[in-house]
Amino acid sequence: MTEFKTLRGMRDLLPDDAGMMIYVQETARKVAKLYGYKEIITPLVESYELLTAKAGDEVRSRMFAFKDLGGRDVALRPEFTASVARLVATSMRNEPKPFRIFCMGSAYRYDEPQRGRYREFWQSDFELVGTFRPEADAEILMLTDSLCQKVGLKRFGLKVGHVGILRGILGQEKVIEKDQNAIMQLMDKKQYDDAVKLVESAGVSKKCVRTIRELVVCRGKDIADVLKRIRELVKDYENSVAAVENLRTILELVNKSGYKIDLTVDAGFARGLEYYTGMVFEIFVPDLDIALGGGGRYDKLVELFGGEPTPAVGVAHGMDRMTLAMETQKIDLKAKEERTIIVVPIKEELKTEALKIARLLRDADMLVEVEVMGRKMTKALEDADRRKTDYAIIVGERELKEGSVVLRDLSKRDQRIVPIGKLVDEIKR
Ligand code: AMP
Repeated sequence: MTEFKTLRGMRDLLPDDAGMMIYVQETARKVAKLYGYKEIITPLVESYELLTAKAGDEVRSRMFAFKDLGGRDVALRPEFTASVARLVATSMRNEPKPFRIFCMGSAYRYDEPQRGRYREFWQSDFELVGTFRPEADAEILMLTDSLCQKVGLKRFGLKVGHVGILRGILGQEKVIEKDQNAIMQLMDKKQYDDAVKLVESAGVSKKCVRTIRELVVCRGKDIADVLKRIRELVKDYENSVAAVENLRTILELVNKSGYKIDLTVDAGFARGLEYYTGMVFEIFVPDLDIALGGGGRYDKLVELFGGEPTPAVGVAHGMDRMTLAMETQKIDLKAKEERTIIVVPIKEELKTEALKIARLLRDADMLVEVEVMGRKMTKALEDADRRKTDYAIIVGERELKEGSVVLRDLSKRDQRIVPIGKLVDEIKR
C-alpha cells in the first residue's frame, strides 16, 4: 500500500501550528474590526486572465493554472487584490466611497519551498478603496503596525518606498511601460546592476543612468535625511519630486499620530506585482530575511478591470510568516489561552453527572473535556497533566450527595471541595 504524503510545498498544520495560525488569523480579523474593514469572501478559483492581468512575470509564472472541465482557463488565486479589483469594478461599483474591505484565506504559488515559503499559504488582505489621499496610505501602514503589535511581535520594521520615484524618471525619459515593468522586476529581486543595464539599453540620457545608479543605493532610517537626498537626486524629474513629497506626507502622518514604527526608506525598493502606482512597503523582522507582508497603492487596477478610475491602497499580510516570526521571537501562546478543564467521574455510574457538569461549564463559555476512556482517576489525571490541562473536576459519590465535586488545580497540585453551583465562579476567580 502506498504511503500517502502531502505534496511538495503543502503542509498539514497539527494542533500547535494550527493554533498559532488561527490565533494570527483571529488577530487580523480583530484589527479589521478595529479599523472598520468589512470582511468579504471571494472564490479560490478565478479566471486565469483576471489573475494574470497585472500580476507581474514572477507571480504569473508560478501560478497553479489549469483548464476546468468546461474548458475554461482558470487558476488558484496567488493573492487577493485581483479578486478585490474585480469586485470593485462590478458588484461593488456603486458602493459609496471610500470603503474598506478585508479578506482572508489561502493563496497558491508554485514557489521553491523553503523556510517561510510554501506553495499554499495564508494571507489577510486589507484594501481601502476610493481615495488617493495620503491619510489612506498612512492608515494601511498603521493597521499593519497594529497587527504586528497585537500578535505580540517585539521587533519588526517597515521598509518603505514609492514606485513613482523611479517611474517618474523612466516616464520622462520615454521608457515604454513594458521595459519599466522589467526594470522594476529586477529591482524587486535586488538585481540592481542588471536593472541599471536595462535602463541604459532603453536609450535614456546619461544623467538618467547616473541618477538611477545613485538612487538604488539611497536608503536609511533617518527619514528626513533620506528623503532630502532622494529629492536632490530627482530634482529634474517633476513626477518623481511629487512622489517624494507624497511619501514625505504619508510618513509624517504616521509619525505625528503617535505610531512609533521602525521605518526604513529605500529609494530602490520595488515590489514584484506590476499594479502598484505609489507608496509601497514590506514588513521585516530580525532573523528572517523574508517579508512578513507587503502592500502599497494601486490607483489604476480597478480601471484595468473595466471599472471607473478608482484609487486604492492595500496590504497583504502573510499569516504563515507571522507565526514563524512569533516562534523566532519566542511568543508563548499558552499564556494567552483560556483555561482548560477535564471532568472525570470516579466510576462508571457517575458518567451522566460528569456530562451534566461539563454542559453547565460550557454554558458559561468554559473549555471542557470529559474523560472518555473509562480510565482510573490517577491515569486520567496523569494524561490531563501531560496535556497541560489547568483543572480537573472529580465527580465522586460522597461529594455529589452534598451537591459538590472536587476541583483540582493541576498546576498547583492542590484541591478543594466546591458546590456545583459555585464551580464557574471558583474557576473564574
Ligand atoms: P507579495 O504580495 O508577493 O509580497 O505577498 C505578500 C505576502 O504574502 C508576503 O510578504 C508573504 O508574507 C506572503 N507570501 C507570499 N508568497 C508566499 C509563499 N510562497 N509562502 C508563504 N508566504 C508567502
